[in-house]
Amino acid sequence: MILETRAVAPFYKNGFVVGCERTREAIVIDPGDEARELIAIVDAQGLRVQHILLTHAHVDHVTGVRAVKEAFQVPVYLHRDDLPLYERATQQAQMFGFAIEPPPPVDAFYDTQPLRFGDYEVRAHHTPGHCPGGVCLQIDDHLFVGDTLFAGSIGRTDLPGGSYGVLMRSIIEVLFPLGDASIVHPGHGPDTTIGRERTTNPFVLEYFALKGTKTINHEGHEDHEDH
Ligand SMILES: [Zn+2]
Ligand SMILES: [Zn+2]
Repeated sequence: MILETRAVAPFYKNGFVVGCERTREAIVIDPGDEARELIAIVDAQGLRVQHILLTHAHVDHVTGVRAVKEAFQVPVYLHRDDLPLYERATQQAQMFGFAIEPPPPVDAFYDTQPLRFGDYEVRAHHTPGHCPGGVCLQIDDHLFVGDTLFAGSIGRTDLPGGSYGVLMRSIIEVLFPLGDASIVHPGHGPDTTIGRERTTNPFVLEYFALKGTKTINHEGHEDHEDH
């Protein structure tokens, strides 16, 4: 698997190019302000982009969709529950004090069918909580989790449509069962693994301590101790 990550000021939001080494087919995940660098990687490596895949529709994750779409003319995918957020991208930008052109229309919503590029499949797992339509994009043992889970932290839930309880359920019931060995590529900051976050993430540990009645066994499933 070819995997390249770039992030630039002001958001330092990770954008990804993931490619098939055999066929040179590729996808671009969450193109933001670093879009020009992602396009340069695609060109330098002789890749052919098939899809633009979004983990969610916060403005820092979509500012480069227009440039990447114009460069490669491929469909843009989003979870349907984030469409209202996507359609307010220009207003989101205004809240941060900058102006953007509206991103191009979404072409398709994720469903249960995996998307293909070369020898790889992408599965979209719905992980709401940071926002209504957040997804984890799974390619083999690589998880592109957007702003749901970070190395040593979790996504903020104070933005419109956010919910702490829903976020924790997404992390524990959707992400953790994907396995301790899974490599997590968050929307901001360094990579981590499910195993590391399951056992050391202070927000996860605090959640289980507060709930009191549950522990996590080594397979990442919840055990109910008192019933
Ligand atoms: Zn976000
Ligand atoms: Zn973000």
